[in-house]
Amino acid sequence: MGPGTRLVVFCQGCPMRCAYCHNPDTWSFGGGERMTVGQVLDLFDRNRPFYRRGGITASGGEPLAQPEFVGALFEAAHADPGGRIHTCLDTSGGAWDAARPERCERLLANTDLVLLDIKHSDPEGHRALTGRDQGVVLSFGDELSRRGIPVVIRHVLVPGITDTIAELEGVGRIISRWDNVCGLDALPYHAMGVHKYEELGMAYRLEGMAVMDPGRVPALRDVILRARAMERS
Ligand code: SF4
Repeated sequence: MGPGTRLVVFCQGCPMRCAYCHNPDTWSFGGGERMTVGQVLDLFDRNRPFYRRGGITASGGEPLAQPEFVGALFEAAHADPGGRIHTCLDTSGGAWDAARPERCERLLANTDLVLLDIKHSDPEGHRALTGRDQGVVLSFGDELSRRGIPVVIRHVLVPGITDTIAELEGVGRIISRWDNVCGLDALPYHAMGVHKYEELGMAYRLEGMAVMDPGRVPALRDVILRARAMERS
């Protein structure tokens, strides 16, 4: 969720449908609680000492799906009279609209760090896993690179789907083209959100899938890093 202790704003609505999503309650663009920028900053201010080494993270759902609001929030966070607040965008990139980049201008001009999910390195695998075109995500990554915004890449390791050597090397190759990548979080697949599907009366596509052994994660992460280093050498 970003460095330090942070106020996390969960933006309602997501255009992706990741099979392992543990927040299906955030998919709908119709729900959620409406808040103003001022209300969010008031919340931050009430616990400001607590967030001293942190900041504000916009997560979701998909914060890129409402770039005007998050842009206004981040701009206000940077100009906050109590001191500049660090801003972090936690995104899948799936709502990036390359045809209308101006919608995100204010947001990207005021984002200190992006956490960008690379869900799957293979275009068909990406569509099967998320329901969306991978090209949108890569286009957003290219935009972040062009702007030099620091990015931490995240990759969820799902047994048999996103933990194969070919897949991990593919992720390494994708991120090798971005000079602004400053970190890599390899995240073990877990099933903690499954109960939400039951509560919502929705089918869980990975029913019965074994969780990822956290002990395997460092070695799998190394495969990505080695592929990235090889591609850049
Ligand atoms: S992008 Fe995130 S919120 Fe959207 S479906 Fe995927 S995991 Fe869930």
